[in-house]
Amino acid sequence: MRLRDKVCIVTGAGRGIGKEIALRFASEGAKVAVCEIDEMTGAATASEIQEKGHEAIFVKVDVTNRESVKAMVEETTSHYGRIDVLVNNAGITADALLVKMTEEQWDKVIGVNLKGVFNCTQAVAPKMIEQGKGKIINISSVVGLYGNFGQTNYAATKSGVIGMTKTWGKELGRKGINVNAVAPGFIITEMTAKMPQKVLDMMKDKTPLGRLGTPQDVASAVLFLASDESDYVNGAVLSVDGGIVL
Ligand code: NAP
Repeated sequence: MRLRDKVCIVTGAGRGIGKEIALRFASEGAKVAVCEIDEMTGAATASEIQEKGHEAIFVKVDVTNRESVKAMVEETTSHYGRIDVLVNNAGITADALLVKMTEEQWDKVIGVNLKGVFNCTQAVAPKMIEQGKGKIINISSVVGLYGNFGQTNYAATKSGVIGMTKTWGKELGRKGINVNAVAPGFIITEMTAKMPQKVLDMMKDKTPLGRLGTPQDVASAVLFLASDESDYVNGAVLSVDGGIVL
């Protein structure tokens, strides 16, 4: 049990990578707050965990809304008493080439992927400082490291997440809190299902390991960063991309 009795918040845990992280954490002994904007998928993830005999609650949250994030932290602490791990996973895309991107597309993606990560971390950090220990894992992307056609807004947020990770690694490290990022490559979820098959095939061909990633691949890396095994890892960006950019 690598996370026995650790209280873990996972945002966007209704489906995809976040759901897999929540399931994996719970199977390693964690008490998981499944934090999600969609009540149906969020409640379903929490039920699936409970049916397996593990510990979880569903907490409805919109990470863009600071009142909602405050309530998420209050609900989690009133239920479980503390917060050991925060995984900032909730994220969206709204793709368009630079010359066609609308202000609405820009604002929407910045709101969830960048401000959402700021909101959640700012709300959780004081609890972790009080405890003198904590782990924060931010889900960035290969796109934040290398850019991508049609993703000006998304790339800005995912690079921004790396900047925030390094800043918080400095600010919070001395308080016993490790802050790291995971940069997944192209992972098979509903997010990438929106991409043309031609592009996905191209990404697969470019990947030395010869396949796209799975949510399980990402959850394994996040589990390492959430566990005590990573106690001397801080401010790192762990790529989980099959070596796509080699
Ligand atoms: P996904 O399948 O679209 O799941 C994202 C989840 O976040 C959904 O359940 C979504 O709810 C939720 N969400 C959206 N806005 C929210 C908000 N304002 N508040 C709370 N929850 C919200 O995406 P994914 O592929 O699992 O991606 C998870 C993370 O990994 C994202 O940060 C993404 O950028 C990153 N990532 C993904 C890939 C990839 O290839 N899939 C690669 C690199 C990085 P709804 O169902 O209501 O939309």
